[in-house]
Amino acid sequence: MESKILTPDKYEIEKGVDLDYVIGECYKNIPVKIYRDNSLMTYGEVEVTQSQWQVAGKIGEIVRDVESGKREGGILSVLGAMGLGKGNIGWMATENVKESEIGIHRIDLLRFLREVGKDGKVPYLTQAKPNGFDTGLRAYPYNDFREMREELFVGGPTLIIFDEAVFATGFDALSYLGAWAKKHDKVIVYLGLNYNYQTVLFGDILKVIEMCNLGNFLVASQCRVTEDCLEPAWQTRRLEKTKGFWHPSLVSGEIVVAGSVHADEKKTVHYQACCKKHYQLFGEEQAEAINNGARVKRDEQGMYIFVK
Ligand SMILES: [Zn+2]
Repeated sequence: MESKILTPDKYEIEKGVDLDYVIGECYKNIPVKIYRDNSLMTYGEVEVTQSQWQVAGKIGEIVRDVESGKREGGILSVLGAMGLGKGNIGWMATENVKESEIGIHRIDLLRFLREVGKDGKVPYLTQAKPNGFDTGLRAYPYNDFREMREELFVGGPTLIIFDEAVFATGFDALSYLGAWAKKHDKVIVYLGLNYNYQTVLFGDILKVIEMCNLGNFLVASQCRVTEDCLEPAWQTRRLEKTKGFWHPSLVSGEIVVAGSVHADEKKTVHYQACCKKHYQLFGEEQAEAINNGARVKRDEQGMYIFVK
């Protein structure tokens, strides 16, 4: 799929486009334009799906096509909110091919204690379980794409996965690797968050989408803020604990790049993938009210409200 991207000064407002309708299209897994309803911003043509298996299967298909010379190599992205199982998709993709190499951002090493072995790698754990699900695979830890030198992958398997890639620096090196992969029949998979909890795109995401010659996938899971919601979840709601009460994080809050729904051991910050309805941010007024002793609770709709 050819990814077309509009430059920021060319964002157009698409009137009458309902986000729920667009997300509804994800069930069909067809290329659609994604619209961010709160800013009415078009950010590219992306394939949207709710199925991790679908994405993992598609990656396997691309790898086989590249290996059999049906298409050239390159790079593709799998993006989504926090806790959508991107690591799980990475793991499932490796199950669909004979061999693979994985890079895991060091920020992820903070979650579960892992030691770097003699092979320079760590166990590849996903957050499918609170203490991490051990895939049995091993991954290179990295902070910057410059650490992911092509020599690591020359002569190796076709599939190369970079997990938590949004936190890595060195976009130029990634761009170089993408071009290298195209030339040398490799398939690089960029796994990462698209938005922070304020629903603001992470720095290089637009450039990444533009660069991905093998396509872009946006994955939405189901919202589980309430048991019966199950709406497509493609935003990340961040909750914080202040004076003993959980509440949505502030619009002006610090962006913590902890990268995990289980990241905070003290449980003062918690991330939930959620739907449009359950996405909440608190403003300065609400923060002040909490600091002045106002109490917050969840109503039966799963929304945080002030208790009178
Ligand atoms: Zn919901």
